[in-house]
Amino acid sequence: MILPIYLYGHPILRKGTKDISPDYPHLKELLANMFETMYKAEGVGFAAPQVGLSDRIVVVDLSSLAKDYPECEGFKRVFINARILEKSDETTVLEEGCLSVPDIHEKISRSNWVRLQYLDEHLQPHEDVFEGYPARCIQHEYDHLEGIVFTDHASGLRKQMISSKLNRIRDGRVNCSYKVKK
Ligand SMILES: [Zn+2]
Repeated sequence: MILPIYLYGHPILRKGTKDISPDYPHLKELLANMFETMYKAEGVGFAAPQVGLSDRIVVVDLSSLAKDYPECEGFKRVFINARILEKSDETTVLEEGCLSVPDIHEKISRSNWVRLQYLDEHLQPHEDVFEGYPARCIQHEYDHLEGIVFTDHASGLRKQMISSKLNRIRDGRVNCSYKVKK
């Protein structure tokens, strides 16, 4: 089922999230819906606040980027109750976008690698180091869990330049090819 995507300006994106418990209802169905909604909107990463839930759930599928970033080949994951334990001081700047912030792309600095503790879709615990594009995507989605949106990281000057566009999204004056919640 396709879910509406909550847009920039909706308070749910600023609220932060809570860990889910093992008896979380309909988890399998929610994950399937999140993947379906993300694919339909042509996204590669998606966090629960973007469908209006303050839960620590992220889905990622970077397969479509494998041509440009070989480390993305077959990279389809679910991250539940994730915590970044450590991240590199070395950073890389690359352009990012977000399904909740349509038509805005900004160059964002992210750590080259992260060490992440999380549960998978079967609620099995893992601790892994992710590098390259997966590390960037995880940091972007992790921000959503913390109530942060990628444009928050833009420089003061860039923020000024995109402020009218952000205001338009906040005011619901935006056209999207996918179903949204304004
Ligand atoms: Zn996003």
